[in-house]
Amino acid sequence: MASWKYDVVIVGAGPAGITAAIALAKADVPVLVIEAGVFPGAENWSGAVYFTENLAQPDVLGEEAVRNSAYERPVTKRGFYIYNGHSLVGLSYRNPATFANCYTVLRPTYDHYLAELAKSFGAHILTETTVDGLLRDENNHIIGVHTDRGSIYADVVFLAEGDASQLVSKEGYERTIDPGAPHFLQGIKEVIEVDPDYIEHTFALPKGEAAAFEILLRNGSIHNRTANLNMGGFLYTNKSSISLGLVLPLDNLSKEFGGDHNRLMEWFKGLTEVKRWTNNSRSTAYGAKIIRGGGFRELPQLVDNGLAIGGAATGIGLDFPYPNFTGPATAMGHLFAHAILEIRATSTSFSRARLEELYERPLHVAHVAIAIHVLAVNVRYHRQNGRKLEKRPIAFVGLRNQILGFPQPRVRSHRIHSSADDHSRIKPTARENRCNH
Ligand SMILES: Cc1cc2nc3c(=O)[nH]c(=O)nc-3n(C[C@H](O)[C@H](O)[C@H](O)COP(=O)(O)OP(=O)(O)OC[C@H]3O[C@@H](n4cnc5c(N)ncnc54)[C@H](O)[C@@H]3O)c2cc1C
Repeated sequence: MASWKYDVVIVGAGPAGITAAIALAKADVPVLVIEAGVFPGAENWSGAVYFTENLAQPDVLGEEAVRNSAYERPVTKRGFYIYNGHSLVGLSYRNPATFANCYTVLRPTYDHYLAELAKSFGAHILTETTVDGLLRDENNHIIGVHTDRGSIYADVVFLAEGDASQLVSKEGYERTIDPGAPHFLQGIKEVIEVDPDYIEHTFALPKGEAAAFEILLRNGSIHNRTANLNMGGFLYTNKSSISLGLVLPLDNLSKEFGGDHNRLMEWFKGLTEVKRWTNNSRSTAYGAKIIRGGGFRELPQLVDNGLAIGGAATGIGLDFPYPNFTGPATAMGHLFAHAILEIRATSTSFSRARLEELYERPLHVAHVAIAIHVLAVNVRYHRQNGRKLEKRPIAFVGLRNQILGFPQPRVRSHRIHSSADDHSRIKPTARENRCNH
């Protein structure tokens, strides 16, 4: 392949990458998305309830386009349960307005659909191409990427490679000194074919609506012994299938199931209440994927000269009260696009300082805002001044870690930027993650 040059090169056509690509292409910025899969979403095994607030922003797709997109069902009912394999307790709650902008999706379909839209706005997408490194000039500034097809040059690169975050590690952007970091969770998912009427009858749903249940599995009995499970299960209803899955710390999987996720899934599917929901129906797809789980504590360096890192590769996301990584990932893609447009309006220098100012700082505030938003609704915290906010996400992470069996975080003193200027840039804040109500 001859070497190519684009204004912006994006690594990965997941929610972070494709949101950035759409917003940039719509603003006539020459942008290339490089995707390792045969097509975007081809290798994605996430649940998933997709949080579409950022896609619905006018400079991305807009609300109507999201309403007409290739989702499975709009989520109108959420359930939360605790289950030890014998007793299940919990509740479900239906309110379409509360969960507006949350859709169940099959990611191979949805990611592919979004990528086709991105192309229609002028983005270029190069599939079946793996980025294996970053290109740097003599001053160590990023000037492009190296792929298994050759070099591609760019003024700025957005690294949105997802959870495995191999390039983040390989290129030296990890910051934590914890030898076990980054910590990963194991995600496992199976798609079970069922009749649409069965879904609506079993989950008491009006036609076409979706239920999304989270199940906290605690200390179940496996082969007559108590196992320290501490994992999250999920059940999401699609048009004519159910996505059933588990997320747990990798260490727990090796301890309790010898690392065998197939065996764990069979155990989960065999539980009485789960069988009642799935009707023991035919499985049509099965896959497993790791999730970067360290959160704030293991945040990598987010910007460099000519580079920004976004999406799950940063570990930023929420998994309580339910997983929301697509919301933060699309927020980061949106924020990156804004930063690039702002820099292009005044100069051509995508320096670390400018990217820090326009991407990293607003992102810190946005991340705090995301977590606070959840806490404000769920445990009645109220907004205070920026400096006091900084301990709240740690409390949140602590609660999450307790549930998932991670070590508790040490409270670190991050400087939270809270100037009026910063706050004005958090476009998604007011609307972001509405499904967290
Ligand atoms: C079992 C499971 C269930 C989940 N459920 C939910 C849920 O219900 N809701 C939710 O919001 N989130 C959920 N998640 C998390 C969510 O899927 C991810 O966090 C989200 O997709 C992150 O988006 P992203 O754009 O950062 O990365 P990704 O969606 O992972 O996209 C990254 C893309 O980059 C490509 N890529 C990677 N490396 C390279 C490379 N070197 N060169 C070229 N291309 C590359 C990949 O093929 C991929 O397409 C779940 C995850 C799992 C595993």
